[in-house]
Amino acid sequence: MQVTLLPALSDNYIFLLHDPQQNVAAVVDPADAQPVLRRLEELDAELVAIFNTHHHADHVGGNQKLMQQFPEVRIYGGVCDRGRIPGQQVFLQEGDRVEFADRIGEVLFVPGHTSGHIAYYFPPVVKGEPGELFCGDTLFAGGCGRLFEGTPTEMVDSLSKLRTLPDNTRVWCAHEYTLKNLQFALTVDAENPDLQTRYAEVQEARRHSNATVPSQMGVEKRTNPFLRWEEPALQAAVKSQDAVQTFARLRGMKDRF
Ligand code: ZN
Ligand code: FE
Repeated sequence: MQVTLLPALSDNYIFLLHDPQQNVAAVVDPADAQPVLRRLEELDAELVAIFNTHHHADHVGGNQKLMQQFPEVRIYGGVCDRGRIPGQQVFLQEGDRVEFADRIGEVLFVPGHTSGHIAYYFPPVVKGEPGELFCGDTLFAGGCGRLFEGTPTEMVDSLSKLRTLPDNTRVWCAHEYTLKNLQFALTVDAENPDLQTRYAEVQEARRHSNATVPSQMGVEKRTNPFLRWEEPALQAAVKSQDAVQTFARLRGMKDRF
């Protein structure tokens, strides 16, 4: 399974999963149909699945048009998003599995950004290789999604789940927000050397308009303030000794940043 990233709208990424053997493809969160159709044409591949993480328009905007072009496509989403994802046929919950080509994806229920948000984790076929995590707007490179339909407690639970995945897991998040996220991170975790190094790398990447996605779970654990609610430096920065409160205060500060 090859994963490629297709930029869409102003700062979204659509992920295209391709199996060259069977020449079939799947997409995660098609914000827009156009870039997907163009790539499918280049590959001469058939679209067999749309994996949606949540109902927001910048994640499901291409569903309808892709359905028209590929009437056989299966459209997946979370069970709590019933009625909110155009064309949804499969209603997933925590622990469900999805298949694509030779790979099995595990469904994680990760509410917080929205009440029905799910993530898809494809463990590696060969032990030690990186797995692929498609986490929508739950975890970002250096940040996390806003809490539109969820509570800090829910989001901490959701991010805790993602944080248990292996360090080499590739984190395919749906937006190019990394530079701004790290600028915020530095305001609360300035002494973190891993964060300083990462910020320099990301600045350089963005100067050349290179994507900073995928990220790596190990890097996120060391530098993303929204996975570091028990770090003394971050707790001190928000004057709390409670994990959820630390997270909530960080999220509130980021909302105003
Ligand atoms: Zn969203
Ligand atoms: Fe989004």
